Amino acid sequence: MPDTIFSKIIAGEVPCHKLFENEHVLAFLDIAPLSEGHTLVIPKRPVERLEELPTEEAAEIARQLGPIAQRVLAATGKRDYNVLQNNGKSSGQAVPHVHFHIIPRAPEDGLGYRWNAKEVGDEQLAALAEKINAEK
Ligand code: 5GP
Repeated sequence: MPDTIFSKIIAGEVPCHKLFENEHVLAFLDIAPLSEGHTLVIPKRPVERLEELPTEEAAEIARQLGPIAQRVLAATGKRDYNVLQNNGKSSGQAVPHVHFHIIPRAPEDGLGYRWNAKEVGDEQLAALAEKINAEK
């Protein structure tokens, strides 16, 4: 179990600006926001990666994400937002405790959203789908 800054926030040892809390989930404002209202929604269980989270606890995060986002958007006067969730260093994950970012967006906010897509043939996609579907 990684002991991270988020474990300390959950334990109340490090302060946060809390927006929501229940048995499994905590939401609070990001300390270094990409936009006004940038929020982190985390499981209380200290696991590093999404696939390590018991599905019922992941489901509880999924249940709360929309309602929390709605309150953030209402308070900041925004309609659009990204939900971002990074797993592992190469994805950009800095804190090794599962977290979902809610990032309110506005036209011309300069954050960007386009990644460079790769070209791929249908046969390659079919072979890959077959390989993935063979995984249990
Ligand atoms: P990651 O890059 O791992 O997906 O995102 C980690 C996020 O946690 C960053 O956006 C960062 O600003 C935020 N963060 C790191 N330390 C703290 C902290 O002590 N308090 C709060 N509220 N956010 C933090």
